[in-house]
Amino acid sequence: MGLEGLLTQVLALLSSVAAVLWAVLAGGMRVSPRASGLFSAANGLLGLSLLLTLQRDTAPDWVVWPVADLLGLSAYALSRRGVQHLFKLPHSTRIDLMVWSAVALGYAVLPLGSVSVRGYTLLYSLPAAFWLGALAWELGRALQAQEPRALGLPLAAPFALAAAVMLARTGWLLDPEATATPDPLAPLWAFVCLVIFLNVSLATCVVARLLQIIRRQALIDPLTGVANRRHFNEQLALALARQRRNGQPLCLMLLDLDHFKPLNDRHGHAAGDAALVQVAQRLKASLREVDLAARIGGEEFALLLPDTPLAQALEVAQRLRQTLRATPPQWDGQALVVTVSGGVVQAQGNSSAEGLLQAADAALYRAKGEGRDRVVAG
Ligand code: GH3
Ligand code: MG
Ligand code: MG
Repeated sequence: MGLEGLLTQVLALLSSVAAVLWAVLAGGMRVSPRASGLFSAANGLLGLSLLLTLQRDTAPDWVVWPVADLLGLSAYALSRRGVQHLFKLPHSTRIDLMVWSAVALGYAVLPLGSVSVRGYTLLYSLPAAFWLGALAWELGRALQAQEPRALGLPLAAPFALAAAVMLARTGWLLDPEATATPDPLAPLWAFVCLVIFLNVSLATCVVARLLQIIRRQALIDPLTGVANRRHFNEQLALALARQRRNGQPLCLMLLDLDHFKPLNDRHGHAAGDAALVQVAQRLKASLREVDLAARIGGEEFALLLPDTPLAQALEVAQRLRQTLRATPPQWDGQALVVTVSGGVVQAQGNSSAEGLLQAADAALYRAKGEGRDRVVAG
Protein backbone atom coordinates (compact mmCIF):
# COMPACT_ATOMS: atom_id res chain seq x y z
CA MET A 1 0.00 0.00 0.00
CA GLY A 2 1.36 3.43 -0.94
CA LEU A 3 1.55 6.45 1.34
CA GLU A 4 -1.72 7.68 -0.16
CA GLY A 5 -3.63 4.58 0.96
CA LEU A 6 -1.96 4.64 4.37
CA LEU A 7 -2.88 8.28 4.93
CA THR A 8 -6.48 7.66 3.94
CA GLN A 9 -6.63 4.75 6.40
CA VAL A 10 -5.13 6.89 9.15
CA LEU A 11 -7.76 9.50 8.36
CA ALA A 12 -10.62 7.04 8.50
CA LEU A 13 -9.24 5.70 11.80
CA LEU A 14 -8.91 9.21 13.27
CA SER A 15 -12.47 10.16 12.42
CA SER A 16 -13.81 6.82 13.69
CA VAL A 17 -12.03 7.27 17.04
CA ALA A 18 -13.33 10.85 17.22
CA ALA A 19 -16.86 9.60 16.42
CA VAL A 20 -16.68 7.08 19.28
CA LEU A 21 -15.28 9.63 21.75
CA TRP A 22 -18.01 12.15 20.89
CA ALA A 23 -20.63 9.40 21.23
CA VAL A 24 -19.29 8.55 24.72
CA LEU A 25 -19.47 12.26 25.65
CA ALA A 26 -23.02 12.50 24.27
CA GLY A 27 -24.52 9.24 25.49
CA GLY A 28 -22.41 8.12 28.44
CA MET A 29 -21.42 11.39 30.06
CA ARG A 30 -24.30 13.56 28.83
CA VAL A 31 -21.91 16.43 28.04
CA SER A 32 -23.80 18.80 25.69
CA PRO A 33 -25.54 15.63 24.40
CA ARG A 34 -27.09 17.05 21.23
CA ALA A 35 -24.02 18.92 20.04
CA SER A 36 -21.72 16.00 20.95
CA GLY A 37 -24.10 13.60 19.17
CA LEU A 38 -23.96 15.73 16.03
CA PHE A 39 -20.14 15.93 16.20
CA SER A 40 -20.06 12.14 16.56
CA ALA A 41 -22.30 11.69 13.52
CA ALA A 42 -20.19 14.20 11.56
CA ASN A 43 -16.98 12.30 12.30
CA GLY A 44 -18.66 8.99 11.50
CA LEU A 45 -19.86 10.28 8.14
CA LEU A 46 -16.46 11.78 7.35
CA GLY A 47 -14.77 8.46 8.20
CA LEU A 48 -17.23 6.57 6.01
CA SER A 49 -16.76 9.02 3.17
CA LEU A 50 -12.97 8.56 3.39
CA LEU A 51 -13.25 4.76 3.46
CA LEU A 52 -15.35 4.91 0.27
CA THR A 53 -12.81 7.25 -1.32
CA LEU A 54 -10.18 4.60 -0.60
CA GLN A 55 -12.05 2.25 -2.96
CA ARG A 56 -11.70 4.54 -5.99
CA ASP A 57 -9.92 1.89 -8.06
CA THR A 58 -12.33 -0.95 -7.36
CA ALA A 59 -15.83 0.22 -6.34
CA PRO A 60 -18.42 1.68 -8.75
CA ASP A 61 -18.01 5.36 -9.63
CA TRP A 62 -21.35 6.40 -8.14
CA VAL A 63 -20.26 5.10 -4.73
CA VAL A 64 -16.77 6.52 -4.60
CA TRP A 65 -17.74 9.93 -6.00
CA PRO A 66 -21.31 11.18 -5.38
CA VAL A 67 -22.11 9.04 -2.33
CA ALA A 68 -18.71 9.50 -0.71
CA ASP A 69 -18.71 13.25 -1.35
CA LEU A 70 -22.28 13.77 -0.14
CA LEU A 71 -21.43 11.91 3.07
CA GLY A 72 -18.39 14.15 3.56
CA LEU A 73 -20.42 17.29 2.92
CA SER A 74 -23.11 16.14 5.34
CA ALA A 75 -20.33 15.90 7.95
CA TYR A 76 -19.55 19.62 7.58
CA ALA A 77 -23.24 20.56 7.69
CA LEU A 78 -23.75 18.46 10.85
CA SER A 79 -20.68 20.02 12.51
CA ARG A 80 -22.15 23.45 11.88
CA ARG A 81 -25.47 22.30 13.30
CA GLY A 82 -23.63 20.98 16.38
CA VAL A 83 -22.03 24.38 16.96
CA GLN A 84 -25.47 26.01 16.63
CA HIS A 85 -26.80 23.63 19.29
CA LEU A 86 -23.83 24.19 21.55
CA PHE A 87 -24.14 27.98 21.57
CA LYS A 88 -27.93 28.10 21.20
CA LEU A 89 -27.68 29.89 17.84
CA PRO A 90 -30.51 30.00 15.28
CA HIS A 91 -30.64 26.81 13.20
CA SER A 92 -29.93 26.85 9.48
CA THR A 93 -31.73 23.60 8.58
CA ARG A 94 -33.62 25.04 5.60
CA ILE A 95 -30.69 26.64 3.86
CA ASP A 96 -28.50 23.60 4.63
CA LEU A 97 -31.08 21.28 3.09
CA MET A 98 -31.37 23.53 0.04
CA VAL A 99 -27.58 23.59 -0.49
CA TRP A 100 -27.37 19.83 0.06
CA SER A 101 -30.19 19.15 -2.43
CA ALA A 102 -28.62 21.45 -5.03
CA VAL A 103 -25.33 19.58 -4.69
CA ALA A 104 -27.09 16.20 -4.93
CA LEU A 105 -28.84 17.44 -8.08
CA GLY A 106 -25.48 18.53 -9.47
CA TYR A 107 -24.07 15.04 -8.93
CA ALA A 108 -27.16 13.53 -10.55
CA VAL A 109 -26.81 15.56 -13.77
CA LEU A 110 -23.00 15.32 -14.10
CA PRO A 111 -21.97 12.25 -16.10
CA LEU A 112 -20.04 9.71 -14.05
CA GLY A 113 -16.46 8.89 -14.94
CA SER A 114 -13.06 10.46 -14.92
CA VAL A 115 -14.05 13.25 -17.36
CA SER A 116 -16.02 14.95 -14.63
CA VAL A 117 -13.49 14.63 -11.78
CA ARG A 118 -13.00 18.38 -12.10
CA GLY A 119 -16.76 18.95 -11.83
CA TYR A 120 -17.06 16.61 -8.89
CA THR A 121 -14.24 18.29 -7.01
CA LEU A 122 -15.87 21.66 -7.65
CA LEU A 123 -19.22 20.33 -6.42
CA TYR A 124 -17.48 19.22 -3.23
CA SER A 125 -15.20 22.19 -2.56
CA LEU A 126 -17.76 24.99 -2.94
CA PRO A 127 -20.37 23.72 -0.45
CA ALA A 128 -17.59 22.51 1.86
CA ALA A 129 -16.18 26.06 1.85
CA PHE A 130 -19.68 27.39 2.54
CA TRP A 131 -20.32 25.13 5.56
CA LEU A 132 -16.84 25.45 7.02
CA GLY A 133 -16.85 29.22 6.49
CA ALA A 134 -20.32 29.60 8.06
CA LEU A 135 -19.20 27.42 10.96
CA ALA A 136 -16.07 29.55 11.51
CA TRP A 137 -18.13 32.76 11.44
CA GLU A 138 -20.82 31.53 13.84
CA LEU A 139 -18.32 29.93 16.21
CA GLY A 140 -16.08 33.01 16.26
CA ARG A 141 -19.01 35.32 17.00
CA ALA A 142 -20.44 33.06 19.73
CA LEU A 143 -17.05 32.79 21.44
CA GLN A 144 -16.43 36.54 21.16
CA ALA A 145 -19.61 37.09 23.16
CA GLN A 146 -18.38 35.13 26.18
CA GLU A 147 -15.40 35.14 28.52
CA PRO A 148 -12.55 34.57 27.79
CA ARG A 149 -13.02 36.46 24.51
CA ALA A 150 -9.49 35.61 23.34
CA LEU A 151 -10.70 32.06 22.51
CA GLY A 152 -12.84 33.21 19.55
CA LEU A 153 -10.09 33.71 16.99
CA PRO A 154 -7.90 30.63 17.62
CA LEU A 155 -10.86 28.24 17.79
CA ALA A 156 -12.58 29.59 14.68
CA ALA A 157 -9.31 29.85 12.71
CA PRO A 158 -8.97 26.13 11.74
CA PHE A 159 -12.46 26.21 10.22
CA ALA A 160 -11.78 29.49 8.39
CA LEU A 161 -8.49 28.07 7.10
CA ALA A 162 -10.20 24.87 5.92
CA ALA A 163 -12.85 26.97 4.15
CA ALA A 164 -10.11 29.05 2.51
CA VAL A 165 -8.34 25.87 1.31
CA MET A 166 -11.60 24.59 -0.18
CA LEU A 167 -12.12 27.92 -1.95
CA ALA A 168 -8.55 27.91 -3.20
CA ARG A 169 -9.18 24.44 -4.68
CA THR A 170 -12.10 25.80 -6.69
CA GLY A 171 -9.83 28.58 -8.02
CA TRP A 172 -7.33 26.02 -9.23
CA LEU A 173 -10.08 23.85 -10.74
CA LEU A 174 -11.58 26.77 -12.64
CA ASP A 175 -8.22 27.49 -14.26
CA PRO A 176 -8.42 26.04 -17.79
CA GLU A 177 -4.64 25.64 -17.90
CA ALA A 178 -4.57 23.46 -14.81
CA THR A 179 -3.77 19.80 -15.21
CA ALA A 180 -4.53 16.90 -12.86
CA THR A 181 -3.87 17.31 -9.14
CA PRO A 182 -0.16 18.09 -8.92
CA ASP A 183 0.34 16.12 -5.71
CA PRO A 184 -2.37 13.68 -4.58
CA LEU A 185 -0.82 13.55 -1.09
CA ALA A 186 -1.35 17.28 -0.43
CA PRO A 187 -5.14 17.11 0.03
CA LEU A 188 -4.73 14.00 2.20
CA TRP A 189 -2.29 15.74 4.54
CA ALA A 190 -4.69 18.69 4.59
CA PHE A 191 -7.52 16.33 5.59
CA VAL A 192 -5.44 14.78 8.40
CA CYS A 193 -4.79 18.28 9.81
CA LEU A 194 -8.45 19.17 9.27
CA VAL A 195 -9.80 16.19 11.23
CA ILE A 196 -7.33 16.70 14.10
CA PHE A 197 -7.66 20.47 14.39
CA LEU A 198 -11.41 20.54 13.92
CA ASN A 199 -11.98 17.98 16.64
CA VAL A 200 -9.54 19.65 19.03
CA SER A 201 -11.24 22.96 18.33
CA LEU A 202 -14.75 21.53 18.81
CA ALA A 203 -13.71 19.81 22.05
CA THR A 204 -12.26 23.10 23.34
CA CYS A 205 -15.54 24.80 22.41
CA VAL A 206 -17.51 22.28 24.45
CA VAL A 207 -15.21 22.86 27.44
CA ALA A 208 -15.54 26.65 26.99
CA ARG A 209 -19.30 26.32 26.81
CA LEU A 210 -19.43 24.16 29.95
CA LEU A 211 -17.26 26.68 31.79
CA GLN A 212 -19.59 29.44 30.64
CA ILE A 213 -22.61 27.54 32.00
CA ILE A 214 -20.87 26.75 35.30
CA ARG A 215 -19.70 30.36 35.69
CA ARG A 216 -23.20 31.57 34.96
CA GLN A 217 -24.71 29.20 37.50
CA ALA A 218 -22.18 30.38 40.09
CA LEU A 219 -23.11 34.04 39.62
CA ILE A 220 -26.82 34.07 38.80
CA ASP A 221 -29.77 33.64 41.14
CA PRO A 222 -31.67 30.66 39.70
CA LEU A 223 -35.16 31.93 40.59
CA THR A 224 -35.02 35.48 39.29
CA GLY A 225 -32.13 35.41 36.80
CA VAL A 226 -30.48 38.50 38.34
CA ALA A 227 -27.03 38.39 39.94
CA ASN A 228 -26.62 36.48 43.21
CA ARG A 229 -24.96 37.65 46.42
CA ARG A 230 -21.53 36.33 45.44
CA HIS A 231 -21.57 38.19 42.12
CA PHE A 232 -22.84 41.33 43.83
CA ASN A 233 -20.04 41.27 46.43
CA GLU A 234 -17.43 40.84 43.69
CA GLN A 235 -18.87 43.70 41.65
CA LEU A 236 -19.17 45.93 44.71
CA ALA A 237 -15.47 45.44 45.52
CA LEU A 238 -14.53 46.24 41.91
CA ALA A 239 -16.81 49.29 41.76
CA LEU A 240 -15.36 50.64 45.02
CA ALA A 241 -11.80 50.22 43.72
CA ARG A 242 -12.81 52.05 40.52
CA GLN A 243 -14.55 54.78 42.49
CA ARG A 244 -11.42 55.35 44.57
CA ARG A 245 -9.41 55.73 41.37
CA ASN A 246 -11.70 57.96 39.31
CA GLY A 247 -13.68 59.68 42.09
CA GLN A 248 -17.01 59.19 40.27
CA PRO A 249 -20.00 58.96 42.60
CA LEU A 250 -21.17 55.41 43.40
CA CYS A 251 -24.40 54.46 45.18
CA LEU A 252 -25.52 51.27 46.84
CA MET A 253 -29.20 50.54 47.49
CA LEU A 254 -30.70 47.72 49.55
CA LEU A 255 -34.37 46.90 48.97
CA ASP A 256 -36.59 44.58 51.00
CA LEU A 257 -40.13 43.65 49.99
CA ASP A 258 -42.69 44.73 52.58
CA HIS A 259 -44.87 42.25 54.43
CA PHE A 260 -43.82 39.46 52.13
CA LYS A 261 -44.55 36.71 54.60
CA PRO A 262 -48.27 37.60 54.72
CA LEU A 263 -48.30 37.59 50.88
CA ASN A 264 -46.89 34.05 50.89
CA ASP A 265 -49.35 33.01 53.59
CA ARG A 266 -52.33 34.40 51.70
CA HIS A 267 -51.52 33.41 48.10
CA GLY A 268 -49.07 30.54 48.55
CA HIS A 269 -45.33 30.14 48.05
CA ALA A 270 -45.62 29.84 44.25
CA ALA A 271 -47.30 33.26 44.14
CA GLY A 272 -44.48 34.64 46.30
CA ASP A 273 -41.93 33.19 43.88
CA ALA A 274 -43.75 34.69 40.89
CA ALA A 275 -43.79 38.06 42.65
CA LEU A 276 -40.03 37.84 43.27
CA VAL A 277 -39.41 37.03 39.59
CA GLN A 278 -41.56 39.93 38.40
CA VAL A 279 -40.08 42.40 40.87
CA ALA A 280 -36.61 41.40 39.62
CA GLN A 281 -37.77 41.99 36.03
CA ARG A 282 -39.06 45.46 36.93
CA LEU A 283 -35.79 46.24 38.70
CA LYS A 284 -33.71 45.21 35.73
CA ALA A 285 -35.92 47.10 33.31
CA SER A 286 -35.58 50.34 35.29
CA LEU A 287 -31.78 50.24 35.44
CA ARG A 288 -29.07 51.20 32.97
CA GLU A 289 -26.65 48.73 31.38
CA VAL A 290 -23.90 49.73 33.81
CA ASP A 291 -26.05 49.22 36.93
CA LEU A 292 -26.29 45.88 38.67
CA ALA A 293 -29.35 44.35 40.32
CA ALA A 294 -28.85 41.34 42.58
CA ARG A 295 -30.95 39.14 44.84
CA ILE A 296 -28.90 38.93 48.01
CA GLY A 297 -31.45 37.24 50.28
CA GLY A 298 -34.95 35.72 50.29
CA GLU A 299 -36.91 38.88 49.41
CA GLU A 300 -33.97 41.27 49.50
CA PHE A 301 -32.39 42.92 46.50
CA ALA A 302 -29.30 45.11 46.16
CA LEU A 303 -28.55 47.66 43.46
CA LEU A 304 -25.17 48.99 42.47
CA LEU A 305 -25.36 52.33 40.68
CA PRO A 306 -22.02 53.58 39.31
CA ASP A 307 -21.56 57.24 38.26
CA THR A 308 -24.70 58.09 40.24
CA PRO A 309 -24.91 60.73 42.99
CA LEU A 310 -27.24 60.21 45.96
CA ALA A 311 -30.00 62.53 44.64
CA GLN A 312 -30.13 60.59 41.36
CA ALA A 313 -30.18 57.25 43.21
CA LEU A 314 -33.19 58.47 45.21
CA GLU A 315 -34.90 59.28 41.89
CA VAL A 316 -34.17 55.72 40.71
CA ALA A 317 -35.81 54.43 43.92
CA GLN A 318 -38.82 56.68 43.35
CA ARG A 319 -39.16 55.39 39.78
CA LEU A 320 -38.96 51.79 40.95
CA ARG A 321 -41.68 52.25 43.53
CA GLN A 322 -43.85 53.96 40.94
CA THR A 323 -43.29 51.12 38.44
CA LEU A 324 -44.31 48.56 41.06
CA ARG A 325 -47.48 50.52 41.78
CA ALA A 326 -48.32 51.02 38.09
CA THR A 327 -47.53 47.45 37.00
CA PRO A 328 -47.87 45.20 40.06
CA PRO A 329 -46.78 41.54 39.79
CA GLN A 330 -49.54 39.28 38.46
CA TRP A 331 -50.54 35.90 39.83
CA ASP A 332 -53.45 33.75 38.75
CA GLY A 333 -55.08 36.66 36.94
CA GLN A 334 -54.88 39.06 39.85
CA ALA A 335 -52.51 41.84 40.81
CA LEU A 336 -50.36 41.31 43.91
CA VAL A 337 -49.78 44.41 45.97
CA VAL A 338 -46.04 44.57 46.51
CA THR A 339 -44.21 47.53 48.00
CA VAL A 340 -40.55 47.91 48.86
CA SER A 341 -38.56 49.63 51.55
CA GLY A 342 -34.99 50.64 50.87
CA GLY A 343 -31.85 52.24 52.16
CA VAL A 344 -29.43 54.03 49.85
CA VAL A 345 -25.93 55.32 50.51
CA GLN A 346 -23.23 57.00 48.46
CA ALA A 347 -19.67 55.71 48.74
CA GLN A 348 -17.04 58.08 50.12
CA GLY A 349 -13.35 57.94 49.23
CA ASN A 350 -12.54 55.64 52.14
CA SER A 351 -15.73 53.50 52.22
CA SER A 352 -15.33 49.76 52.63
CA ALA A 353 -17.81 47.30 51.15
CA GLU A 354 -18.80 46.13 54.60
CA GLY A 355 -19.24 49.66 55.90
CA LEU A 356 -21.41 50.64 52.93
CA LEU A 357 -23.62 47.56 53.31
CA GLN A 358 -24.07 48.26 57.02
CA ALA A 359 -24.98 51.91 56.37
CA ALA A 360 -27.49 50.94 53.66
CA ASP A 361 -28.96 48.28 55.95
CA ALA A 362 -29.36 50.83 58.77
CA ALA A 363 -31.16 53.19 56.36
CA LEU A 364 -33.39 50.29 55.23
CA TYR A 365 -34.34 49.59 58.84
CA ARG A 366 -35.21 53.25 59.26
CA ALA A 367 -37.47 53.01 56.17
CA LYS A 368 -39.22 50.00 57.72
CA GLY A 369 -39.58 51.83 61.02
CA GLU A 370 -40.99 54.93 59.36
CA GLY A 371 -43.88 52.93 57.89
CA ARG A 372 -42.38 51.02 54.90
CA ASP A 373 -43.00 51.70 51.15
CA ARG A 374 -40.21 54.27 51.06
CA VAL A 375 -36.48 54.57 50.41
CA VAL A 376 -34.32 56.44 52.94
CA ALA A 377 -30.86 57.91 52.36
CA GLY A 378 -28.18 56.85 54.83
P1 GH3 B 1 -41.08 43.18 56.37
O1 GH3 B 1 -41.96 44.19 55.78
O2 GH3 B 1 -40.69 43.51 57.78
O3 GH3 B 1 -39.86 42.93 55.54
O4 GH3 B 1 -41.89 41.85 56.45
P2 GH3 B 1 -41.62 40.49 55.71
O5 GH3 B 1 -42.78 39.62 55.92
O6 GH3 B 1 -41.25 40.77 54.32
O7 GH3 B 1 -40.30 40.02 56.42
P3 GH3 B 1 -39.81 38.67 57.02
O8 GH3 B 1 -38.30 38.75 57.05
O9 GH3 B 1 -40.49 38.35 58.30
O10 GH3 B 1 -40.22 37.56 55.98
C1 GH3 B 1 -39.61 37.41 54.77
C2 GH3 B 1 -40.39 36.36 54.07
O11 GH3 B 1 -39.98 36.24 52.72
C3 GH3 B 1 -40.23 35.00 54.65
C4 GH3 B 1 -40.50 34.07 53.54
O12 GH3 B 1 -41.82 33.59 53.60
C5 GH3 B 1 -40.39 34.95 52.31
N1 GH3 B 1 -39.40 34.44 51.38
C6 GH3 B 1 -38.06 34.45 51.50
N2 GH3 B 1 -37.50 33.85 50.42
C7 GH3 B 1 -38.51 33.45 49.62
C8 GH3 B 1 -38.56 32.76 48.36
O13 GH3 B 1 -37.56 32.39 47.75
N3 GH3 B 1 -39.78 32.52 47.84
C9 GH3 B 1 -40.92 32.92 48.50
N4 GH3 B 1 -42.09 32.66 47.93
N5 GH3 B 1 -40.89 33.55 49.66
C10 GH3 B 1 -39.72 33.82 50.24
MG1 MG C 1 -36.14 40.52 54.54
MG1 MG D 1 -39.49 41.87 53.82
